[in-house]
Amino acid sequence: MTNRTKAVTVIGLGSMGRQIARTYLAAEFEVTVWNRTQGKADDLGAQRAETAAEAVASAELVVLSLTHYDAMDAILGSIDLTGRVVVNLSSDSPQRTREGAAFVRARGGEFLAGGVMAQPEELAGPSAYIFYSGPPAVFEAQRELLRPLAATEYLGADEGAAQVYYQAMLALFLPLLLGYEQALAIIDRSGSEIARFLPYAQRSLGSVGDLYAAWAGMAEEGGPADPAYLRMMAAGARHVVETSAAVGVDTVLAASVSSYWERAVGTSASTFQLLHG
Ligand code: NDP
Repeated sequence: MTNRTKAVTVIGLGSMGRQIARTYLAAEFEVTVWNRTQGKADDLGAQRAETAAEAVASAELVVLSLTHYDAMDAILGSIDLTGRVVVNLSSDSPQRTREGAAFVRARGGEFLAGGVMAQPEELAGPSAYIFYSGPPAVFEAQRELLRPLAATEYLGADEGAAQVYYQAMLALFLPLLLGYEQALAIIDRSGSEIARFLPYAQRSLGSVGDLYAAWAGMAEEGGPADPAYLRMMAAGARHVVETSAAVGVDTVLAASVSSYWERAVGTSASTFQLLHG
């Protein structure tokens, strides 16, 4: 890192914000923190600001880690942000994020949006990265100071872009977790051992990268809609519902998945077309 002052303010000390503060402290930054519930700042070893305004005044770079963008409005609403760069690493919709960017600019500040692709304990580790979007010059000016947290993936000037990618990754991840839990429930309720199933579940991940590549290509062509393929998949999805029901596993997720294949068979549209609209 160059001779630039290594100083940052971190606002929001939930599990992610606390780890952001710790990561900057480990990288030998001057770290000032503020949190609505004050006790969370006590044991970090960072400089504790008494007010949000005092925290904002302490460093050019102000990193936010909050539940949503409404929390940013509540905290920064009456503060002059002239000369500050607000980097909001909180989750929200792309549209709400663009409104947040305008909110910061109306108070004199610069703005970048970020989506953290890591668990708190993974920050600064090899697998962690953060999607960023916002004005390119603002990102370039802050890139070096953001790098200690995680690798940076810059997506362009539209502030909403980081959230589009972040929410798309959640759309991928959340059903994956639920599907895995459904599989574990079927195994357990069927009298088998979850530990015995685990290596098979892990083995299935080996081919996912190739599957994603193949499906990306097909999505660009509208997705697979061969009638025989759709009927085969619909039957498979129905069997998961029947298997779940037979052993007392909740069928809401399986029935929802199955409904896509049934609709695909009925309309001869691919499931991608049904989702895409
Ligand atoms: P937490 O629930 O642990 O912390 C939420 C933080 O937001 C707290 O500091 C809380 O303050 C603050 N907050 C919420 N509402 C308000 C408000 N109205 N006014 C002021 N402060 C408010 O969440 P995390 O730390 O886990 O997550 C923070 C962000 O990071 C989220 O957007 C999340 O999606 C994202 N993220 C989290 C990951 C994780 O694994 N934890 C992974 C990737 C992204 P208070 O302490 O006073 O309640």
